[in-house]
Amino acid sequence: MSNEKIPYKIYLEEKDLPKQWYNVRADMKKKPAPLLNPATGKPCTAEELSHVFCNELVQQELNETDPYIAIPQEIQDFYKMFRPSPLIRAYFLEKKLGTPAKIYYKFEGNNTSGSHKLNSAIAQAYYAKKQGLKGVTTETGAGQWGTALSMACSYFDLDCQVYMVKVSYEQKPFRREVMRTYGANVTPSPSMTTEVGRKILAEFPETGGSLGCAISEAVEAATSQEGYRYVLGSVLSQVLLHQTVIGLECKTALDKYGEKPDIIIGCAGGGSNLGGLVAPFMGEKLRGEADYQIIAVEPASCPSLTRGTYAYDYCDTGKICPLQKMYTLGSGFMPSPNHAGGLRYHGMSAILSELYDQGLMEARSVEQTSVFEAAQQFARVEGILPAPESSHAIRVAIDEALKCKETGEEKTILFGLTGTGYFDMYAYAAYNDGKMSDYIPTDEEIAKSIANLPKIG
Ligand SMILES: *Cc1c(COP(=O)(O)O)cnc(C)c1O
Repeated sequence: MSNEKIPYKIYLEEKDLPKQWYNVRADMKKKPAPLLNPATGKPCTAEELSHVFCNELVQQELNETDPYIAIPQEIQDFYKMFRPSPLIRAYFLEKKLGTPAKIYYKFEGNNTSGSHKLNSAIAQAYYAKKQGLKGVTTETGAGQWGTALSMACSYFDLDCQVYMVKVSYEQKPFRREVMRTYGANVTPSPSMTTEVGRKILAEFPETGGSLGCAISEAVEAATSQEGYRYVLGSVLSQVLLHQTVIGLECKTALDKYGEKPDIIIGCAGGGSNLGGLVAPFMGEKLRGEADYQIIAVEPASCPSLTRGTYAYDYCDTGKICPLQKMYTLGSGFMPSPNHAGGLRYHGMSAILSELYDQGLMEARSVEQTSVFEAAQQFARVEGILPAPESSHAIRVAIDEALKCKETGEEKTILFGLTGTGYFDMYAYAAYNDGKMSDYIPTDEEIAKSIANLPKIG
């Protein structure tokens, strides 16, 4: 089909919305390693996990065999408010770059939370409600997950307790207010409300907090209150599962026009949007039906795939969560304070880690000034102010399109534009003022943090 026929925005009809999530583990011959109980070193049982997570979500977490899992009607209905999300042909960017490549992006910022995180938040809130819980607890770093979860909880009339990394709590008061508007209770972490928070504060009274520390507080809050469970916005296999609506919609939309991406690119923090975007394509790859070049993009300041170690590690600073085998920089790793671009988690989804280890996808790391340069270039022609996280994917999409310009190859590039950057204007200001710098951790720094990995087997 000729290019002219492809509209700027490819929308699907409601009837084309996915009715099932796709579980890529079912098609993996070698599965991701199981979660381990830190106390026993043995794989976590459903019973153990059910103290922390909702029952149905535990089943999804452990399900490695069913390729498709039905999306409950209530969740499908909620999705209809903001899905299908548009798949956009970046004609303006292509023209600006002078590339023969075709560029598509899937835009997930069209909801109040401003990111893809609502896709999983609504599912997790639904299962908590169905179980008859009073509420859920969680952590949030930059605030997108907390915002998405507070929206989902208010929809299902659930209490929502958010531990927000203290520096973000102070730097992003508007994020906090969105959450409070949706009825969430937001606590800066570390706090005096949990034992682990008090312990961390006693040791590091001046700390601005970290995701790993907020996770520990949220888990403690969930397990110490009757009728509460903990929910997480990335990393876990259940979250990747929910995010497959992104990739499934892309596939349907591209199929409509007979288009097939050569390269699929996504930013990678904990791996949920990338995992969701690539899942159906990866499934074809795993089944030997098609081949795609898949690229994970991470910040050079927090390079878990490109410079991390594939090993069991703690998911949180307090070391109370199950151990997960993943590419990790060590749970004590802290990205440098000048790092503004999100994606600061020390580890990576177990599914993506295993796929990467098997050579089924690649990873690149990019420096934040080059990320903001790409963000600005994109914003000026495509009209969307991208989130810094999403802009990592833009960076590599532009790099690949420029390579095509050199070689004359007409490749089709698809990337995930995960959200908008309206709450990241301090970072944009630093870039615009020429005050943003890059920091790449030394091998010694990474080795020091890796030395503290738990000793397993
Ligand atoms: C949270 C977030 C990410 C990174 O999380 P993943 O789980 O790796 O997808 C990327 N972009 C935006 C806009 C986010 O809010």
